[in-house]
Amino acid sequence: MIDLHTHSTVSDGSEPPAAVVAAAAGAGCRALALTDHDSLGGLEEAAAAAEAAGVALVRGCEVSCRAELPGVGPRSMHVLVYFVDGDGGPLHDELGRLRADRLARNRRLVDRLAELGVPVEWDQLVADAGGEAGIGRPHVARALVAAGAAEDLSDAFDRYLAEGRPAYVPKARLAPERLAALARSAGAVAVVAHPLALGLEPGPLESVCRELAEAGFGGLEAVYGGYRPEERAGLRRLAERVGLVPTGGSDFHGTFKPGLAVGTGYGDLDVPDRLLDDLADRRAG
Ligand code: AMP
Ligand code: ZN
Ligand code: FE
Ligand code: FE
Repeated sequence: MIDLHTHSTVSDGSEPPAAVVAAAAGAGCRALALTDHDSLGGLEEAAAAAEAAGVALVRGCEVSCRAELPGVGPRSMHVLVYFVDGDGGPLHDELGRLRADRLARNRRLVDRLAELGVPVEWDQLVADAGGEAGIGRPHVARALVAAGAAEDLSDAFDRYLAEGRPAYVPKARLAPERLAALARSAGAVAVVAHPLALGLEPGPLESVCRELAEAGFGGLEAVYGGYRPEERAGLRRLAERVGLVPTGGSDFHGTFKPGLAVGTGYGDLDVPDRLLDDLADRRAG
């Protein structure tokens, strides 16, 4: 078993990197990818814990992109990047810009909520996220619930935070093709995360994935914790048709996604080990 999609306190997960690694080891994972949003900041801690636990750590991150889809228009697309080695270069620089923009977005978002009459304390968000850099909308959602402004996390998104809702503030997003090129030049591999989130019918989804494969993507997340068996099977067949590796992972976020465990997901996840080797074969050079 492996898990190629997890979040820690470095972004919007509730558990520190070492605890995510410990959970992977406990679940029997041979390999784990830590994929915090826009950040590689948890990898050092995770690598030390992984070495001690005998788990192979895949250095990754997850980036929110904006895809221009022919006949559909702009869509949000999450992209996982794997095998990010080294500590500098154009990919790292771009991630730094995205983090700076996220921080500015978060400040505007808090201002916007105050205008709407639902104040959320900045210092409280910082404390909850373990630092300014780690704040994401889930932390804001948790603060809204604590303040009685929403029933639960998903209600907070529906009322305020989701795209099109009154406190939605966009942040900078790369084109997926550009991210794939940056990844390739860093010896890393880009993978389409939870592809059904694109909300496309099967035909358009297949054309988009085909184009992404041509743009240098290496995989498509088929064996995803939140997907049903038939959805996973359909995505595996799609990946095969377009020449992408069908990867998989839980999208573990700790208490921000209750019931979802590292490795086993909602209890029915078991990502095959060999998918990681297939993905590693897609590295450039
Ligand atoms: P951010 O990167 O700060 O914009 O936050 C994005 C994160 O918020 C995603 O990775 C999800 O974990 C979470 N999220 C986005 N939309 C929703 C939603 N409608 N309900 C619950 N969580 C959401
Ligand atoms: Zn997240
Ligand atoms: Fe995502
Ligand atoms: Fe994720």
